[in-house]
Amino acid sequence: MADDLERRVAAAVDRQREQLVEDRRDLHRHPELSYHETRTAELCAARCEELGYTVRTEVGGTGVLADLDSGRPGPTVMVRADTDALPITERGGERVATSQNQGAMHACGHDGHVAMSLGVAAVLAGLRDDWHGRVRVCFQPAEEVAGGAQPMIDDGAMEGVDRVLGIHLWAPLQVGRVAVGPGPLFGSADEFGLVVRGRGGHGGLPHTSVDPIACAAQLVTALQTIVSRETSPFQPAVVTIGRIEGGTAFNIIAEEVRLRGTVRAFEQSERERLLRRIAEVARDAATAMRCEAEFIRANGCPPVVSDAAVAEVVRRAAVATVGEENVDVAPRVTVGDDVALFLERAPGCYFLVGAGDVSRHAVAPHHHPDFDIDERCLPIGCATLARAALTELNAG
Ligand SMILES: [Zn+2]
Ligand SMILES: [Zn+2]
Repeated sequence: MADDLERRVAAAVDRQREQLVEDRRDLHRHPELSYHETRTAELCAARCEELGYTVRTEVGGTGVLADLDSGRPGPTVMVRADTDALPITERGGERVATSQNQGAMHACGHDGHVAMSLGVAAVLAGLRDDWHGRVRVCFQPAEEVAGGAQPMIDDGAMEGVDRVLGIHLWAPLQVGRVAVGPGPLFGSADEFGLVVRGRGGHGGLPHTSVDPIACAAQLVTALQTIVSRETSPFQPAVVTIGRIEGGTAFNIIAEEVRLRGTVRAFEQSERERLLRRIAEVARDAATAMRCEAEFIRANGCPPVVSDAAVAEVVRRAAVATVGEENVDVAPRVTVGDDVALFLERAPGCYFLVGAGDVSRHAVAPHHHPDFDIDERCLPIGCATLARAALTELNAG
């Protein structure tokens, strides 16, 4: 990027500093659960309209698309932010902002994602004469349940989009650092259910029943061998049973047990193999114990994969923002994000911006009632995104 434009980007981001913090705190005080992000959507739509964007609301539910056309031919670059919060009750304490919605909390940093994307929208609107093509800011609901991206795509979110850019704030990474790289960043994430059916009866007369609890216990351990015995030690994979539910009293053999779990992988073929093997192992192990196991595939999304060329553009944008010494190669993390569905349809890059700081107590893990971000991350993310978007817009 030309030095002159570089300076103007820095100045434009600087002018957004207060607004970034104000927006993040406002969103943090008013978290909304997946599929209910109406206030957040209204805020995003109103702000983008003020900035001169053409706004479409209710895209695939509570999604918002805001477009700004330069009037000059060029690529369409989409900046994506997820908008939903989690069903967690925030623990108070010394915080700059606390949730006012009981039972809901921005415990993953999506408040920051929205604030930064609004910042990018403002910066690019201010520099409208300096780029070609079209900017699309995508405010996507229901990321935490991997259910928001697909309906937006079905509703046209990816039509004409050439590049996708997105940030995840990352508390395990020190504020001031950015981590980016080509290839998979986050794993695939699939939810599955198993229903183990037996035949209930008297707890003192097990031989007259078929016990689904004993069977479910076997399944929990048997399923772990899919990772430990069937998957290469050099191939990251996770199978977790997170919920198990069955039985009514100590002396009654249950009729059925329900299990729910999740699978993580970094390649599409591995993802499908793991899911297929869970169904097979569950079915056959249950048969051996005279039970029946039904496998139910639920919501899921593929691995989050960054394109090598776009990742390099983001890396240079990060270097321009925080300096070479503060840019890391992104680690692989076995969490999921349905930004993967956008990245399947156009080359792009998803990257991590450090949001944690021990000295400010922002050390709790994501999805924890104590989670917090160091707000110094906001201008860093905003500047990196804006720089990368400008490079892509002017590359066409
Ligand atoms: Zn999350
Ligand atoms: Zn998240």
